[in-house]
Amino acid sequence: MRKKILMLSVFLMIIVFINGVYVYAGEVSSNKRPVNIILFIGDGMGPAQVSAAIAVNDNTLVVEKFKYAGYCKTSSYDRYVTDSAAAATAIACGVKTRNGMIGMGPDSTAVMSILEIAKKNGLATGVVSTSAVTHATPAGFVSHNSGRGNYEDIALDFLKGTADVFIGGGSNHFVKRKDGKDLSADLKKMGYDVVFTLEDLMKSNSMKIAGLLDNEHMAKSTEGRFGMLEAMTMKAIETLSKNKKGFILMVEGSQIDFAGHDNNLNWNISEVLDMDRAVAKAYEFAEKSGNTLVIVTADHETGGLALTGGDLKQKSVSGVYASTGHTAVMVPVFSHGPGAEKFTGIIDNTDFFSKFKELLRIK
Ligand code: MG
Ligand code: ZN
Repeated sequence: MRKKILMLSVFLMIIVFINGVYVYAGEVSSNKRPVNIILFIGDGMGPAQVSAAIAVNDNTLVVEKFKYAGYCKTSSYDRYVTDSAAAATAIACGVKTRNGMIGMGPDSTAVMSILEIAKKNGLATGVVSTSAVTHATPAGFVSHNSGRGNYEDIALDFLKGTADVFIGGGSNHFVKRKDGKDLSADLKKMGYDVVFTLEDLMKSNSMKIAGLLDNEHMAKSTEGRFGMLEAMTMKAIETLSKNKKGFILMVEGSQIDFAGHDNNLNWNISEVLDMDRAVAKAYEFAEKSGNTLVIVTADHETGGLALTGGDLKQKSVSGVYASTGHTAVMVPVFSHGPGAEKFTGIIDNTDFFSKFKELLRIK
């Protein structure tokens, strides 16, 4: 009997000890690593675009729930003011390059992207955009080309299978090509479900999806597209999360940039709000899964937007644009989930690549 009591108390002590260590580890958040990463790039989304969207949206956005924030420097290899190609290459591949170049160093040597490395390590991968999927930002994650405008060549790079899921516009570059090739046939042979409408996308149960939802860029959020990015993002997360080894997904609010070039404040704000709806879904998934890092940032600012007035009660804001091009202002970085604290302070756009590799423990 005594022996039994002794054994029981030793057993209880071990339980307490293990439990104590467990609780301790749980409190040290820097020990936690993400299994999944969802990266949002608001193309052309500077601090003013975010502020304006907050003002007209009951003074709040989903990113306000994110625990950490920082700033990111955006310059390219050869220019103080970057373009989206060099910026995407910096974010996706960790290398500064010349404006206009995709997935290559300044000497035209191809460099591996975080998606290619993730794929090699057995993770699921995806890109989602409201531009053509062959446009600079998504292209930086899957393609290597010295000219961002070589859309049909960039489309060929999708046949390497770097992205298990790619959803956006750009079907012309796959099926209405100058060389007469129909890349949808090649994609089907590779096991992709190739869909051309949002309806068919939602119905797909495939682990590999090519969603080419428009000929070129998708419609403006102010002209019927609002909310589609949210649906596309949900589908991508649903599909990629079937891989238990984890996934990395890049979602682009592509047309924040288009509206900035157009100096159209309503459209500019609408595109930020549209992306925020997609961010909400990623945030919900992160909260549920507990092992997902979500980052919301930009490649550069577009338009040099300054907010010169407004009324929070009226949910209105007024602003002026200093440029029809890109500007060099630092862009915000909002992060949430395991590893989020690594993206605070002032970082460089090349830092995402190395931090993602480190956090996912992939080489
Ligand atoms: Mg873009
Ligand atoms: Zn632009």
